[in-house]
Amino acid sequence: MNYRRLGASGLSVSEIAFGNWITHGAQVDNDTAYACVRAALDAGITTFDTADVYSDTKAETVLSQALRGVRRESVELCTKVFHPTGTGQNDKGLSRKHIMEACHASLNRLQTDYIDVYYAHRFDERTPLEETFLAFSDLVRQGKVLYIGISEWTAGQIAEGAALARELKVPLIASQPQYSMLWRVIEAEVVPACEREGIGQVVWSPLAQGILSGKYMPDKPVPQGSRASTPAGASFFERLAGRWMRTEVLQAVSRLSSLAHEAGLTLPQLAIAWVLQNPQVSAAIIGASKPEQVQENVKAAGLRLDPEMMREIDHILEGLVERDPGKTG
Ligand code: NDP
Repeated sequence: MNYRRLGASGLSVSEIAFGNWITHGAQVDNDTAYACVRAALDAGITTFDTADVYSDTKAETVLSQALRGVRRESVELCTKVFHPTGTGQNDKGLSRKHIMEACHASLNRLQTDYIDVYYAHRFDERTPLEETFLAFSDLVRQGKVLYIGISEWTAGQIAEGAALARELKVPLIASQPQYSMLWRVIEAEVVPACEREGIGQVVWSPLAQGILSGKYMPDKPVPQGSRASTPAGASFFERLAGRWMRTEVLQAVSRLSSLAHEAGLTLPQLAIAWVLQNPQVSAAIIGASKPEQVQENVKAAGLRLDPEMMREIDHILEGLVERDPGKTG
């Protein structure tokens, strides 16, 4: 494994991080979840990503069980707040009340005294940003949170947040956007805005939820057991990756598979290596339903793709890549 600084901060993260959205507490049983985390640890992954909302709050608990016995200082535990975790009118968003309550609930489920990176999972239009950042500042001063991140915020929202973070001396160091060969909407605005503020990118769905594994084939039924086929994953897959289940995209993905094989790689390895070529990316968060996927995917760490390979990828995906920064969030 290779390790990178998260933005301009002093915190090191594994350049491949492990996330448990959809899988832990939902798609996979606990023994499989533990085996995936074990495979991640064995490969040198130290950065673990979850959220209070994943699997109706069960994912944080499963992750903490999977990490039982692991030295706390040896891992970076990251979680998020914003999406509803209950039915009350204050069980969501970035109000001071919800941030404080959600943080304590996450600490409890994660069985830890502190969260390494605490993300605002989305921007909250209904709460003054000062209120949000003052709550973050208090959590940082109390030692319950070490660093702050944001997820799927626009460049303008990031600039506003960074100004407040500076004023309140809050270490805002991470942005967590979707980024893959197929989804490059952060490149035009979010990445430059973050670079100016010393904020690193910790990117999600580098395989476009499995599309960039090559397992979904044009005109073939989705494979049994894949995210697109499971009750836990199908609706998220449809909502976020459904746009790629088109013949022309899947045919291009099949050409990418051949390109990867010619280079001695698998397509997941090529796709993860591709996001890691961007120097503004501090880590790629992978998901896995089987430990073998982790073992395969971590081999992308440290790979250099030559410029000709990068051009060939762009050529194969011409006209299929989403780049509109307006699609952020
Ligand atoms: P990926 O794009 O890496 O997709 C992971 C899924 O692809 C796996 O669960 C598996 O699904 C399939 N897969 C992985 N490796 C292989 C392989 N080698 N061969 C075949 N199939 C493979 O990432 P995710 O979409 O899971 O997102 C990763 C993490 O990012 C999340 O866990 C979460 O922590 C974070 N995230 C953050 C969001 C945010 O709003 N901030 C939003 C979404 C995710 P299967 O086997 O079931 O088909």
